[in-house]
Amino acid sequence: MSRIIQLSLPPQAAADEAAVRKACASQAESQTTSITSLRILKRSVDARHKNIRVNLSVEIFAGDEPDTLIEPFRVKNVTSSKEVIIVGAGPAGLFAALRLIELGIRPVIIERGKDVSARKVDIARISREHIVDPDSNYCFGEGGAGTYSDGKLYTRSKKRGDNQRVLELLCLHGANRNILYEAHPHLGTDKLPGIISAIRKTIIDAGGLFLLEKRVTGLLINGNQINGVKTAGNESFLSPCVILATGHSARDIYELCLSGNVDLEMKSFAMGVRVEHPQSLIDRIQYHGNERGNYLPAASYSLVKQVDGRGVYSFCMCPGGFIVPSATSQEELVVNGMSPSNRNSPYANSGIVVEIRPEDLGKYSAAGVLAGIEYQKELERDAWINGGSTQRAPAQRLADFVAGKASGSLPKVSYFPGVTSSPLHEWLPQEIGKRLMEGFSLFGKLMTGYLTNEAVILGVESRTSSPVRIPRDPEKLNHTRVSGLYPCGEGSGYSGGIVSSAVDGTNAAEAVSRYLK
Ligand SMILES: Cc1cc2nc3c(=O)[nH]c(=O)nc-3n(C[C@H](O)[C@H](O)[C@H](O)COP(=O)(O)OP(=O)(O)OC[C@H]3O[C@@H](n4cnc5c(N)ncnc54)[C@H](O)[C@@H]3O)c2cc1C
Repeated sequence: MSRIIQLSLPPQAAADEAAVRKACASQAESQTTSITSLRILKRSVDARHKNIRVNLSVEIFAGDEPDTLIEPFRVKNVTSSKEVIIVGAGPAGLFAALRLIELGIRPVIIERGKDVSARKVDIARISREHIVDPDSNYCFGEGGAGTYSDGKLYTRSKKRGDNQRVLELLCLHGANRNILYEAHPHLGTDKLPGIISAIRKTIIDAGGLFLLEKRVTGLLINGNQINGVKTAGNESFLSPCVILATGHSARDIYELCLSGNVDLEMKSFAMGVRVEHPQSLIDRIQYHGNERGNYLPAASYSLVKQVDGRGVYSFCMCPGGFIVPSATSQEELVVNGMSPSNRNSPYANSGIVVEIRPEDLGKYSAAGVLAGIEYQKELERDAWINGGSTQRAPAQRLADFVAGKASGSLPKVSYFPGVTSSPLHEWLPQEIGKRLMEGFSLFGKLMTGYLTNEAVILGVESRTSSPVRIPRDPEKLNHTRVSGLYPCGEGSGYSGGIVSSAVDGTNAAEAVSRYLK
């Protein structure tokens, strides 16, 4: 027999199983000894008031043991099954492959980058030598863009598919089971590579093909039907279905689509900067002056305001994290954020970005549907030049930026390649810079102490989402013109973030299976 109990406990008690058991027994009006086991179903921190509480939803059992929460992965041997090509081994591509296997189809994954271990070496070179390998970096390589990240798994998009199943599959491949009940689950950059390697092993053990260091350079399209892809070594891979899961940094893929008559559409996106505060300052603001202590997580925030008709908002906030260089080629500078699983760095960083709509792109109209990408490229090159033409990032103290003043000195930052003091208020395009200045002022009113010269902004956060969409049928999920082509994940413009891209990949696999039948 089981029963669900709702608790609101001080952080220390919530972290102590004996205290949780006692609180459950008291609410259930039973003896602690009569509770044979318990499992946490939901956990969230309520920091709205000075007296911070942890809310728990706990299922208690008397006598019988709880069923295992996770449905096992239904492995099939697909070595001799029909083959479907998946381009890209990010969350969308990997979860598409897992689902194809469950459906009895053999995935053939073609990935331009290296495996997660070899990729680490190239990532270190970006920080130390300022050299960006165009096929192996923070965005490209096994595991995709989210491999060296905070691994936040929280998503607002609940309608499109089975988010829970994605979390379960991550657990089956080594993720901590707390991701199943935390209100804002995350994995951490130290845990992600192991999980990605375990997923690769599952795919290969089931008979899937996993090809690394092969960049797709051609889509084989005959009339309105895709027949496969060509890679940089001039090898052809044939299949009546291709799942295109190349992420939104693969600009060459968008050009390839256009040259192959695969039409694209413009969509809104966002660009701005990454701001970094001391984590202790964010903790003090969010925890009402209380010390975080040993039982509360590094505090996070989520901010949004409308400024002059466009949204200005925080994006991918990384408590206890690091700012990282995530360019995909030389002569561009792009920043993003990551955190280890224990979020224990002394810094809190977040993208603060301004919404950009297709109608804002007049200046780049010569680039047609790729106007947004041209805008991204120009801003990334400006950042590179203003940082000193290396991977050093242009930076300015936050209050100086808002006051329109250059910073004479900069505080210590987490960004390993280094920073160069630069007047971002002067060179950021007005439509971004002015809105950011106003946005930061407003955020300073929402969070007292946020607008401070202890914080620093680094340019530029330009890869929040894709500026284009590869249009697809809303039901069948194939490209609107080319049969057998299944654009999915962040590069298709239909998802954003690890979980929603993984769900999108899963849905693409199911659509492919229906098509093949
Ligand atoms: C530093 C960083 C931190 C992030 N933190 C988070 C976070 O905490 N939480 C979150 O939800 N999201 C985070 N994101 C975003 C998240 O990583 C993406 O939303 C997600 O990875 C998108 O998945 P995807 O599979 O659609 O594309 P991607 O992950 O971009 O994968 C695409 C794959 O395709 C490959 N590819 C591209 N072109 C070709 C080609 N021509 N041939 C063969 N292969 C190709 C790439 O190498 C890549 O491996 C972060 C991103 C970065 C860069």
